[in-house]
Amino acid sequence: MNFALSSTNCLLCDATVTGAQLNLCTACRNDLPRMSTACPMCGIPLPESLVCPTCRRRAPPFARTYAVFQYSSPVNHLVVLMKFQGKLAAARVLGELLAAYLAQSQARKPDMIIPIPLHGGRLRERGFNQAMEIGREIAEQWRIPIQRELVIRQRPTPPQTDLPDRAARRRNVRRAFALNGSVSNVRHVAILDDVVTSGATVTEVARLLKRAGVARIDVWCCCRAGGLP
Ligand SMILES: [Zn+2]
Ligand SMILES: [Zn+2]
Repeated sequence: MNFALSSTNCLLCDATVTGAQLNLCTACRNDLPRMSTACPMCGIPLPESLVCPTCRRRAPPFARTYAVFQYSSPVNHLVVLMKFQGKLAAARVLGELLAAYLAQSQARKPDMIIPIPLHGGRLRERGFNQAMEIGREIAEQWRIPIQRELVIRQRPTPPQTDLPDRAARRRNVRRAFALNGSVSNVRHVAILDDVVTSGATVTEVARLLKRAGVARIDVWCCCRAGGLP
């Protein structure tokens, strides 16, 4: 007896996946809501890939947003499995999909990846920072460091998704982050988050890095929520 092919189960439909690297079957993978056209700066889904009115009015502190998926079914189930059911396999799947997307999009290689930090309390509760786990694969493939403690969350904040609107989300993360080291030799950073909702969190972290002298900041995320109102 020799079972040369390992098998796993699809995280979304439980089908057996044989000899696969990912815990995701082909049918479910093809079902994921890939981003087609979006604002290149903030990543918001649009009917055409043009800079959106919001970014035209006021450019964000980052140059580009790379978002693999729109935040809808069934990729949102992978996010829920990862964040609320502690499934690290889901973070690995999302990390591999993001790595493939960045390569295909010919994203520029940054000096480092900064995952959006969790506050200590939430980190202990969840046991891992999902943005850190998602970034591992890319950091390895691209041979760049992933800096988990260069930006810290200095106070706990309610999840952005619990807040009603953009203004409340901006207030919620204002001065929530701090730099915990020098970025004087850093020219290009990629900020990584699993889901970008209003963009308030990544904007706050990008501003912090910009003020400290980082010339270029990109946002990498698995999912981008929203669209034009
Ligand atoms: Zn499946
Ligand atoms: Zn935009």
